[in-house]
Amino acid sequence: MATDEYLKPVPNVEDPDMGPFWAAAREHRLTAQRCLNCAQLRFPALPICPNCWSLDSEWVDVSTNGTIWSFVVYHRAFHPGFADEIPYVVAIVETDDGVRYTGRVVGSRDEVAVGRRVRAVFADETPAFTLVKWELVDGDG
Ligand SMILES: [Zn+2]
Repeated sequence: MATDEYLKPVPNVEDPDMGPFWAAAREHRLTAQRCLNCAQLRFPALPICPNCWSLDSEWVDVSTNGTIWSFVVYHRAFHPGFADEIPYVVAIVETDDGVRYTGRVVGSRDEVAVGRRVRAVFADETPAFTLVKWELVDGDG
């Protein structure tokens, strides 16, 4: 077994709904689906608009700046791949476009709080996929 093997869960970058998100993340862009009928943004991807039921949508870039809406600190590794990273923070971040993402918060765990400003950072985990994570910024970021 190679020592550099990636031991954490891997997203399905070929998923028909979420594939465009993963492709954009690879290019270090944060995206969401936008309904072509009512213009509502949504994430994660859905084949149908939850607001107007339209099947027509497109992927658009959204703001990489946001605010922590909620968070948890993991003190137990629920997957063995994370065992050497606990405790770590996972937050729900609401971007300035109003789209909510769930992701890791990197940096000082003790400073994480609801309402803190964050910005997206793009972690190239393997040559195949990039994760969107969040880092704290000062002030209005
Ligand atoms: Zn709609």
